[in-house]
Amino acid sequence: AGKKVLIVYAHQEPKSFNGSLLKIAVEELTKQGCSVTVSDLYAMQFEPRATRNDIVGHLHNPEAFNYGVETWEAYKRGGLSKDLVEEQKKVQEADLLIFQFPLFWFNMPAILKGWMDRVLVQGFAYDLSKAYDGGLLQGKLCLFSFTTGGSKEKYATRGDIRYLLWPMQHGIMHFCGVKVLAPHICYAPESVSEEKRKEMLTAWTQRLKTLWKEEPIDCSPEWYFK
Ligand code: FAD
Ligand code: ZN
Repeated sequence: AGKKVLIVYAHQEPKSFNGSLLKIAVEELTKQGCSVTVSDLYAMQFEPRATRNDIVGHLHNPEAFNYGVETWEAYKRGGLSKDLVEEQKKVQEADLLIFQFPLFWFNMPAILKGWMDRVLVQGFAYDLSKAYDGGLLQGKLCLFSFTTGGSKEKYATRGDIRYLLWPMQHGIMHFCGVKVLAPHICYAPESVSEEKRKEMLTAWTQRLKTLWKEEPIDCSPEWYFK
């Protein structure tokens, strides 16, 4: 109770399975007394491109544009575009970040990747000497909740799904100092029976009930590649 949760959601259709997973999370966490904020990226028409437009006013080096340097400098002088500042405020306030999305090409959809690219600016989320356990978003938890097209059996026989979590969980979230809860994967909601779909939705509700008692994973290469 009293915890703050930000759900960053990347699906176009509220009636989708992802939409149902989102709805469940909002309802269950609200019921627990958490305050829940949703960034519905498609509904917001969130800009995924990392461009010059993210910096308000003058550039640090107008001769040769460097996105990382320019956003870092802009962050320090309060010169990031409004949409970024708003997302950063939501991240800053959150105890837990949940990412809800369908798997696209073994990765997150571009709109969500764009959120990562643009929101997690140097100076805000990490710094040169402050990465991984020392990242600037220390004290926060995250959870990647996603759906696949491929079945659980296919993923089990054709390579561990943990491989593709390495860039998302370790490369992004752990890099920023965020502790990682076990991912929540709903396999092939389009292909399974209605009964199985209902089961998967119930399992998500059940998991959320005891979520705050969970320990983060040991986010080291062994978890992913052993
Ligand atoms: P939906 O189609 O929205 O939902 C499935 C079914 O659940 C629908 O019939 C819906 O009506 C029903 N449903 C919704 N809510 C409820 C409810 N409350 N109760 C019961 N039923 C409900 N997959 C991979 O495995 N690997 C990849 O690399 C990959 N790359 C992709 C790349 C692209 C560009 C695209 C478009 C897809 C890719 N996919 C991949 C497939 C994708 O991951 C799946 O299509 C997606 O995860 C399915 O989730 P959804 O929410 O869109 O499903
Ligand atoms: Zn890690």
